[in-house]
Amino acid sequence: MARIVLTADRAVFTDFSGAEPLGFGLCIPYRLVPRFVEYWVLAPPVPAGDGGRAIFAPYPLCKVEASLLAAGFRRSDVIITPPEKLEGVVSSDTEVVGVHVLDPQGLAPVSWTLRVLMGGGETCTQYEFERLMMRVLQLKRRYRFKVVVGGPGVWQLRGLEKKFGIDVLFEGEAEITFPVLISKILKGEEVPGYVVGEQPAPEAIPTIVTPSRNGIVQITRGCPRKCHFCSPTMQNFRSIPLSNILKEVKLNLEHGLHYVGFATEDVLLYGARGIEPNPKAVKNLFTKTLELSKRYGVERPGFTHVSLSTALAAKELVKFITDTCGYDAHNPAFPQVGLESGSPRIVARYFAGKPYPWKPEEWPEVVISSTKLMNENYWYPCLTYIIGFPGAEPEDYLRTTELLEKLKEEGFKGWTFPLFLVPIGGTLIEKKTGFKTLQELPQEAVESMVVGWRLSIRFSREVYPKILRSMKNRFLRWLLERLTEKALDSLENWVTLISRDPSYIDRLVAGVKLRSTPSLIAALIRSKLRTS
Ligand code: SF4
Repeated sequence: MARIVLTADRAVFTDFSGAEPLGFGLCIPYRLVPRFVEYWVLAPPVPAGDGGRAIFAPYPLCKVEASLLAAGFRRSDVIITPPEKLEGVVSSDTEVVGVHVLDPQGLAPVSWTLRVLMGGGETCTQYEFERLMMRVLQLKRRYRFKVVVGGPGVWQLRGLEKKFGIDVLFEGEAEITFPVLISKILKGEEVPGYVVGEQPAPEAIPTIVTPSRNGIVQITRGCPRKCHFCSPTMQNFRSIPLSNILKEVKLNLEHGLHYVGFATEDVLLYGARGIEPNPKAVKNLFTKTLELSKRYGVERPGFTHVSLSTALAAKELVKFITDTCGYDAHNPAFPQVGLESGSPRIVARYFAGKPYPWKPEEWPEVVISSTKLMNENYWYPCLTYIIGFPGAEPEDYLRTTELLEKLKEEGFKGWTFPLFLVPIGGTLIEKKTGFKTLQELPQEAVESMVVGWRLSIRFSREVYPKILRSMKNRFLRWLLERLTEKALDSLENWVTLISRDPSYIDRLVAGVKLRSTPSLIAALIRSKLRTS
């Protein structure tokens, strides 16, 4: 049996029914998520092969496994297993259980925002992490292995090591430091409780051996723009060699994954030196990936993030990607994009590098021109903006509202989603702010949120059938379409009520429970009685 077992909780170790954006549904307080919605739709279980080995896994776990193998550990020493199989995999041979975490205490920006806006309570992400760790603790008492926890959510667990039986919190990149740490543990040497991973050169990052969930493959690490609230920017910016990207894409396709998704902070910065795009590298990336993926019947890769200023600085690349991938009104791209604020004063103070090569005062114009360019090329972005920058005045929120109104006038297609500022561990802003709540904000901040939500609801009604189309299970898709319609109606009511009186959340939403079938039925009857 394996000596090193790698896993993650159910909110991380799932394929989100094939639609990655559904993962955001797990950031909702769990009392509001019916059990069947969480376990059948948002986070269905993933298959495992003989001996509990995962058939595919979240990409970061695949990378950790690859680092161990590249460092000389045998395949039989290491196993990635879904959480449901853990008890069958851990044995007296197990010396280390490694747990990958994204949002273990529900404090990531989307989670925190949804908690505040939905009356508080543990998110599904926190609930699942804690459930997993209770099981890990029981196993640890029996088998006495070490527990190492790593991943972007590690900052949320500082001070909670004892509660969850964690021996080592591992921050940063795995490739160089993680295998050294594990070797020491296996030799019975003392190891520190907190370890920071060194950053490898891109050529030294081993390629994955276990296929990655939903065909995700990383193409860049880090970001050169240095926004104060961002954690990926604390890593050096690097592009992964194309040959390694293609190797991982091929592995996924050969194992039957029918999707290619580029994980990146800015797809247009692939191969760039600093902030200057490298058109040749980006074109090569898409052309070569498509040559390969089409052989397996995959028509186009997706990508996670892009920045507004790079898109505007590299207009021809946006068009090239659309033409090459065949994006159109029925097959659009949905990248995540940071708008952050419409106030040049806030831009200059907290993210002056984001508009570059434009100046902070030109940011609103960059946003308008770049979103227009994206929409013309069938990129429908999810624009996130931040509420609660330290020192933000009502005037700054008014600038954001004006920018959102302008987007609406221009017929913007996409989402505009406000997020509360979160002092993410290790970021430049960490020590300068706390977690924000609605009560601390001026009315102008609430108004800027309301404008963004309304824009998003309008666009969601237009586009959700296209997003759900990638779901594999037809019955679930039908079910989710009905639920989405209902959810959007409720959201519209909720926004109207909050715009009149934000205390509505505490008075009415905080007590709502939809988790179990009886509580869901009771809530539906109550809402029916209210509307009739
Ligand atoms: S542009 Fe995005 S990824 Fe880059 S530093 Fe700013 S927030 Fe982070």
